[in-house]
Amino acid sequence: PVDRLPEIQEARLKLPVLAEEQVIMEAVRENPCVVICGETGSGKTTQVPQFLYEAGYASGSGIIGITEPRRVAAVSMSHRVAKEMNLSTRVVSYQIRYEGNVTDDTKIKFMTDGVLLKEIQKDFLLQRYSVIIIDEAHERSVYTDILIGLLSRIVPLRNKKGIPMKLLVMSATLRVEDFTDNQKLFRTPPPVIKVDARQFPVTVHFNKRTPLEDFTGEAFQKTCKIHRMLPPGGILVFLTGQAEVHSLCRRLRKCNTKLKPPSFMHVYLCLQSLPRIDLDNYSALPVDEGDEDREAGIGDEEDEASDLDIGDDPSNAEVKADPSIPLYVLPLYSLLAPEQQAKVFRPPPPGTRLCVVATNVAETSLTIPGIKYVVDCGRVKKRFYDRVTGVSSFKITWTSQASANQRAGRAGRTEPGHCYRLYSSAVFGDFSLFSEAEITRRPVEDLVLQMKDLNIDKVVNFPFPTSPSAEALVAAEQLLVSLGALKEPPQTGRIKELKRAKLSCPITPLGRAMASFPVAPRYAKMLALGKQQDCLQYVIALVAAMTVREIFEDLDRPAGTEDESSKLTQRRARLTQMRRLWAGQGASLLLGDLMVMLGAVGACEFAGCTPKFCEDNGLRYKAMVEIRRLRGQLTNAVNAVCPEVAVFVDPKMTPPTEHQVVCLRQIVLTGLGDHLARRVQVEDVLDPKWKNGYKTALMDDPVFIHPTSALFKTLPEFVVYQEIMETAKMYMRGVSAVEAE
Ligand code: ADP
Ligand code: MG
Repeated sequence: PVDRLPEIQEARLKLPVLAEEQVIMEAVRENPCVVICGETGSGKTTQVPQFLYEAGYASGSGIIGITEPRRVAAVSMSHRVAKEMNLSTRVVSYQIRYEGNVTDDTKIKFMTDGVLLKEIQKDFLLQRYSVIIIDEAHERSVYTDILIGLLSRIVPLRNKKGIPMKLLVMSATLRVEDFTDNQKLFRTPPPVIKVDARQFPVTVHFNKRTPLEDFTGEAFQKTCKIHRMLPPGGILVFLTGQAEVHSLCRRLRKCNTKLKPPSFMHVYLCLQSLPRIDLDNYSALPVDEGDEDREAGIGDEEDEASDLDIGDDPSNAEVKADPSIPLYVLPLYSLLAPEQQAKVFRPPPPGTRLCVVATNVAETSLTIPGIKYVVDCGRVKKRFYDRVTGVSSFKITWTSQASANQRAGRAGRTEPGHCYRLYSSAVFGDFSLFSEAEITRRPVEDLVLQMKDLNIDKVVNFPFPTSPSAEALVAAEQLLVSLGALKEPPQTGRIKELKRAKLSCPITPLGRAMASFPVAPRYAKMLALGKQQDCLQYVIALVAAMTVREIFEDLDRPAGTEDESSKLTQRRARLTQMRRLWAGQGASLLLGDLMVMLGAVGACEFAGCTPKFCEDNGLRYKAMVEIRRLRGQLTNAVNAVCPEVAVFVDPKMTPPTEHQVVCLRQIVLTGLGDHLARRVQVEDVLDPKWKNGYKTALMDDPVFIHPTSALFKTLPEFVVYQEIMETAKMYMRGVSAVEAE
């Protein structure tokens, strides 16, 4: 029996999923797999684990496991459920990549999907668990997809062995056909339980025009107008990334300082004058059928006069919120510290209006209470990866219609709301209906290696909810063969190509060792070879830095003010100076950007990895902390595979000797061998676009060494690179020189 506090109990009863408890539990009793879908905020994540707990699914030896694609959600949901159930975090716990609070008493365990995948490697039958819930399946994260595929096999196996197990797949939007109408996945389609959320109508307002560039500025204007003109209610702004989130937060807060802090009298008056007119008395259109700019005056950005539309309407005369009330501005994004994240769930200070500026996190993973207005930039930032050339880029693209409607829905949780889309309805009409599954947009060599380690040899036959392309699978197997992780298939003349498509190379002992390192196979290979010449500690530091990526602060950003601009210039100069120092001298120089990374990691650790050191030297503190954790984790993993090396993290790591640098370069080459580029000789340059360009195996166009690279001045003939990023040009990142034979 669960002993909940009365106020918790009361809040739970309002959640739509509570009405379905019986239906859900009956379906779970009678079926091995069940799909539950319902609007975000209907209570799936917080309540379903409690239903299962109360029905006794954790009372035997098995426990309840819930996977989340985001670390944020795993941590915050475990705390929430512990609190709701009045149980200690010893019982309702979480485990994410580097940390957790799981104990022997744990009965409900929230974890990231990657954590569960690792557990499957240790115990394929997952015997610790009586139920697994795969949450946020609609996000279609790669690990989630693989887990569903694996569990579709594990569940029947468990039943056959007489130790039954249940699988619940929970999803927000309604596109569940990938899971249910997929014979390869579930031969008998699992029942789908729909939870009807009490969703209030949300009126959607489109912009007449679509700002192509400064959508953050547009979001700023819109938020200010909402605050100035519309009745109380929280505002949630969707932007694309952490940098924009911070920049908008700063701008909005700056506006506040111009306002007087509210007196209590003032607050009292505000409460008195709460809207008597119903702003929602508009025709309540379904979320996706809003009419352009018709309803509220603030839909139109063309001139300030249109702001007055709302005032022209006599019934709206009293609606205007008092703009002297400060906005209580909070950022929200995945990498934000948990204490900061938790703030969005607490009521804003009295006499303020809540304004959360968020990335996609707020779309489905976290439900923020009290939101009445949503401002949607309509974009999303995604990493793109070219399957053929391996070129990566971060691109801001339009989101999907499903995703835009999710965002709009956030405004209708507690009362009718409004969503302001910073783009026109015509543009919305061109959005794709759904977002693509992540697995189709990224290289899959890490997954293929993990699956081979699970003895799934024919990866092409794996029951993916959405399969990666055959091309991507073949490319992955080829790379793994070249790294020595898989055994070369027998070459058979002309039908070779045909065979390739159905590759099923078995894993090698080296491959098994590589699979035990939680990094990309290329880097795992470097770790596996790092034993030589006492290089291991350097290889570990380097691999950690290459895995975390983006360790240097982005100082190319535009500066808002003059003051900011001179600060930026200073910091750029400082970072350049430090890069030069970290690049070392003599032989070290040839290790290039990788030496710079190594130097940065070493120096930062030496200084105790403080925010100040990072701030002063142009390093991203978050990245450095992550590198520190990953170094620890990799060190443990290496010791586990190969105890005799007894490697440890030395906070006072000295720079590698010349001899070690030579070894390091060889080790790097074994992982990046296919990322080789050769400088085009001056005499061969016919087309000026090839000046200082490098030729790679896979691309027709030149790639370049970035001006900030340690090798920009040297331009060695042969280099290997970590990746190619397309920004202003095709630039190689993480460049290191290779000696010609
Ligand atoms: P779903 O998984 O269906 O999207 P959730 O179970 O996450 O729904 O959320 C149910 C309700 O619990 C929401 O109204 C949400 O605001 C509330 N809630 C979730 N986490 C917290 C928290 N940490 N503090 C307060 N309320 C929370
Ligand atoms: Mg949820």
